[in-house]
Order: sequence, then C-alpha cells, then structure tokens
Amino acid sequence: MRIHLMVADEAAARSLVRLAELFGDGPSVTAGPEPVPDADYIVRLEASETGGAVRGRAELTRRADGQRRLAIHEGAIPEGASAEERRNIVRRTMNRSLLDVLRQETSLEQPWGILTGVRPTKLMHDGLRRGRPRVEIRRMLREEYLVSDGKIALMERIVDRQLAALPDLYELRDEVSVYIGIPFCPTKCAYCTFPAYDINGRQGSVSGFLAGLHEEIRVIGQWLKERGVRITTVYFGGGTPTSITAEEMDALYAEMYRSFPNPDAIREVTVEAGRPDTITPEKLDVLRKWNVDRISINPQSYIQETLDRIGRHHTVEETVEKFRLARRMGMTNINMDLIIGLPGEGPAEFAHSLAETEKLMPESLTIHTLSFKRASEMTRHRGEEKYRVASRDEINAMMDAAVSWTASHGYVPYYLYRQKNILGNLENVGYALPGKESLYNILIIEELQTIVGLGCGATSKWIDPATGEITRLANPKEPRAYIDTYRKYIELKMEALEKWYASRPLAAG
Ligand code: SF4
Repeated sequence: MRIHLMVADEAAARSLVRLAELFGDGPSVTAGPEPVPDADYIVRLEASETGGAVRGRAELTRRADGQRRLAIHEGAIPEGASAEERRNIVRRTMNRSLLDVLRQETSLEQPWGILTGVRPTKLMHDGLRRGRPRVEIRRMLREEYLVSDGKIALMERIVDRQLAALPDLYELRDEVSVYIGIPFCPTKCAYCTFPAYDINGRQGSVSGFLAGLHEEIRVIGQWLKERGVRITTVYFGGGTPTSITAEEMDALYAEMYRSFPNPDAIREVTVEAGRPDTITPEKLDVLRKWNVDRISINPQSYIQETLDRIGRHHTVEETVEKFRLARRMGMTNINMDLIIGLPGEGPAEFAHSLAETEKLMPESLTIHTLSFKRASEMTRHRGEEKYRVASRDEINAMMDAAVSWTASHGYVPYYLYRQKNILGNLENVGYALPGKESLYNILIIEELQTIVGLGCGATSKWIDPATGEITRLANPKEPRAYIDTYRKYIELKMEALEKWYASRPLAAG
C-alpha cells in the first residue's frame, strides 16, 4: 500500500510520515507538496490560523474509487506562546487530523494516538516536574495526543513506580550514571542491531578493546573523582558483557572499583549476561566477588525452534540451568527478557513461555515486542517463511496476556519505551517485583540524568541541568574503530563533561 501526504511544510512532514507508517503492514509513505500518480491514497494536509485558534485539516482520497474522507481538528494557542510552541500546536492539529482519516479508512486503532516517540512517559514527568496537576496532564494526553485511557493509566502507574524506586529522581542531575559497552557475543542473533560481534576468532581485537576500555575507565573515573561527581548507577551492556573470560571480567571490575569515585556508594551495578551460553560458575563467582547487584539472563522464548530460527545458539534447558546456577551462587536480582511476536510464535507459544517463567520467577521481566530494525538479518529477509510473524490481533492478544500474567504474579510495570517498526505499534515494558526495579533503566529511559558511555557503541548523553536539553556523543561501534580512536573520544567526552559540570546549579553556588 502506498500513501502520499500532500503537505507543504517539510519539517512537519517527518512526523506525519512516521504516523502514516503505523497504518497497515509497513505501507510505503511519501510526502511532498505535489500529488503523485501511483499512490493508493492521497492525503491533502493543511493548517490555518486565525487569532488564537488553529485548524488542521486532512482530506483523504482513495485512488481505486475516488472515495473521500475528511477530518478537522482544532487547537488553541495560549497567549505568550513561543514560536516553537506555536509550531508544535499547529503540527499536532495536522497529526490528529491525519490519524483520524487513516483510522476512518483502515478501522485501525492507535492506542498511542499521535505519539510516535520512543519515550512517552517523559511527557508525564515533564508535566509533573513543572507542577502541572495530573488531571491536566491526562487531559492533554487524551485530547491533544489522542492517547487511549488504557495507555494513560499505564504511563501513570509507571511514573508512580519510578518515583517510588527513586524518590529523588528529579534531583539527580548533579550526578551521572555510567554505561559500559562490551561489543562481543557468541553468535549474532537475527533480529539484532546492537554493536555485537562474534567473539570467536577476534581475540586480537578483544584484548585491544579491553586495553582501551580500561584506559577510558581510569581517565573518566579520575575526572569524576577530582570534581567530586557522584555515580548513581553503572550498567554493563553490549553485546554480552559476559562473553569475555572470567579473568578479563575480574580485571575490568577491579579497574572500575579502583578508578570510580566512592564505588561503595553506587546504588546499583548491573551486568547483562543475556546469553546463557556465556555464563559459567567462574564468571558468577566474579560477579559476586565485585558485588554486582543485578544480572540479566534472557530466554527471549522457551521454544527451541524459535531460538534456532533467530540464531540464538543456546538451548532452552541451558537458560533454565544457568538461571538456577546463578540463584544457587547468590544472585538475588535477576532480570529475564521475553519477546512478543518472534517468527513462528503466536499466543500459544507465548503462553508456554510465561508458564516456564512462572517456574523461575525472576525479580524482573522485560517484555519486548518484536521490531523489524533496518539493519537486522531478519528485516533483510522479512518476506521469507522463516521469519513470518503473527497478525496484529495475535500480537495484541499476547500483549494482553503479558499484562494480566504479570499483574497476577506480583510484577509492576516500571519503565516502557517504543521503537520504530515495532509490531502492532505496541511497546516494550519492564516489569519488576516492587523494590527490584533497575534504577539505570529508569534513568536512561526518562533522560533525567547525564549518562557517560564508555566502550564500544556506548552513547554519552549530557542533560543540561537547567533546560533539560540533550547533547549526545557515540563511541565507535566496531572494535577495530574503537581501538584506533578511543583516545580522541575520551578527549571529546572530557570537554563535554567540563561544559556540563560548569552548567550545574551546584557549580554556580
Ligand atoms: S545476544 Fe543480544 S547483543 Fe548479542 S547478538 Fe543476540 S541480541 Fe544482539
């Protein structure tokens, strides 16, 4: 299906295109000021402004029979609104009108309304931080963004849980969290676009990479110590950080403890051990030795055929066995990830995975919805039988099953994020038993704290303490490129950190 959006404002076109892409099974959407001859649908979009009122209009024409549909949405521009606020209000009226005509035409409901961003809960935090009453925030989400009541209630539960886990969430802008990226995995999964390189046969680059990473930890740690900046949380991700040997892990954590300021005051250290085939008793010993609080062992599915199909070269039994081993060896906070909509899976397979999860009862459970990321193997072969996925209704049924299963087992949702090309336009939700939430996940998703990224593919994000504005810097993804350039990235990071440090309210006092 091809949809063409006739819109004059190029900047507004981007969000309109993203929105139209949510309708149907990956429609091809174009935008431009002129009509095109071969589109199945042409939607003409306009906005007009009179006094303090804005009117967005969308008129859809179906090529097959010339049938038309019309939607008009209005908005008010408050007195004293800045040029940017004004622009946003105008765009929202067009977005709502577009959503409306496409909904009329396809009968597809979009529970997230016109919100296409990754972090919907940020909007709620933003309102709360500004002291807006909840009833007003709910009204805004419902009327200005057309978010369903169910999703608003979910957002509110999540925000409340986050504030219970981190009561000082809005006051952590003077501290930082640290993300450390280890870019190796035993094999590459078919849906993966993370910086993850097959560890076999790359020993040369593993040792070169680790040497660079040790240096990054030392230099940045020293800077943080000198400035008296506290670290709230540390997160080892990747890749699979337990792909390296137990000795390499031991040396890395020793470096962290030596270099970081006040390591005993760090509130949480997480190490992803996602692939069960990387976990050994020796590595678990190292994790315990360095007081790692939280690990992640990810089944993704308990159906062996699915694991084989998506290139995860481990068995279901291995996941269970490694989970039990980690428990026996004293790990008391284990996360597990499941994915809704893996190829070949429907509600029955997902119900099986939930039933297996019940036998283990990890402290937290992250339920992802499959997304077709552009660079993955699976997306390149999307049309093939091997990667056939469930229908939208089945995906919704699996999400509903996840919601009721987690609720009846004592899990509470505590963070959520959305991705482009996610099946059913749904979301990824982190659930945890109360008190077992990952603090790092809250901080990274809500973008309320500066994150310093070290290692491969690690993105640093500086949050301006006054304006909340975000500046990003990404380390190279590929180990070879990292080895060649990490010193330059340390310098760039130090410059950005100095700037951030000078802008903190504490610096002024
Ligand atoms: S284990 Fe995770 S990081 Fe590694 S290849 Fe699979 S999805 Fe990617």
